[in-house]
Amino acid sequence: MSGRIEVDTARLSLLLTELRLPAIGRLWAEMAERSDREGWPAARFLSTIAELEIAERARRRVERHLLEARLPPDKTLDGFDFAHVPMLSRARVTALASGDAWLNRGKNLLLFGPPGSGKTHISAAIGRTLVENGYRVLFTRTTDLVQRLQAARQDLALEAAITKLDRYDLLVLDDLSYVRKDQAETSVLFELISRRYERRSMLITANQPFGEWNNVFPDPAMTIAAIDRLVHHSVVVEMNVESYRRRTATTRKARPASRPVPPTTELTAIEHA
Ligand code: ADP
Ligand code: MG
Repeated sequence: MSGRIEVDTARLSLLLTELRLPAIGRLWAEMAERSDREGWPAARFLSTIAELEIAERARRRVERHLLEARLPPDKTLDGFDFAHVPMLSRARVTALASGDAWLNRGKNLLLFGPPGSGKTHISAAIGRTLVENGYRVLFTRTTDLVQRLQAARQDLALEAAITKLDRYDLLVLDDLSYVRKDQAETSVLFELISRRYERRSMLITANQPFGEWNNVFPDPAMTIAAIDRLVHHSVVVEMNVESYRRRTATTRKARPASRPVPPTTELTAIEHA
């Protein structure tokens, strides 16, 4: 015949499944057709479909890591109003959300601020961006994690549970100061902090900077030891701003969008201001 080699495409499908190359399995036919039409050298065809498989793998990995991160939904950097928190510039947060400089050295980020100042939102947004940049993150309320670790301790599996958390480049412990006195007694949180010290990063939020942390650990000496380890390599940001919830509520009351103020009234209001 004309030298054309027949390819058993049904078998090729099986081979690609066996090799776990789903993107190539899905796209090779279309790419092969294009390659034939445009006269690509074989090496170009091969490298193109290999790149497609790799890109799809990266996408799936991020998807998986977003699920395992248990981030609160809808809290993104795009949705964060930086004007409300002047001590936390967009540039600084963008640098933190790119990861490398602090995560690779196991540094910590401590965010303090009153309720509603945006701690949970910005932590979740940083976590989300880090996952999108290829890092692994676990977001948890501190009380939930303490409970989990306590259960592990009862099963004599605390070491293993803490080791398992090593897979995360960043642990976000939201609301550390909400740990209850009875939860503090087992010191699992201290063990976690000690084990991650200088190796793996933590992002911790709390309403109070250190003052009330005596409730979080079994005794004052351990509180000091924990704070010492956390602060040693860390960025501390005090978000001392008014509640974003309250502010938006006030703004809405002042300027109701549904009932526009007539121009004359507006003028009077300005004159009286
Ligand atoms: P905190 O954890 O400090 O108590 P949250 O992060 O839960 O505060 O913020 C309370 C609410 O206000 C959330 O719905 C959050 O999305 C929103 N919020 C807070 N700060 C900002 C901000 N700077 N820009 C946009 N939304 C914000
Ligand atoms: Mg919060």
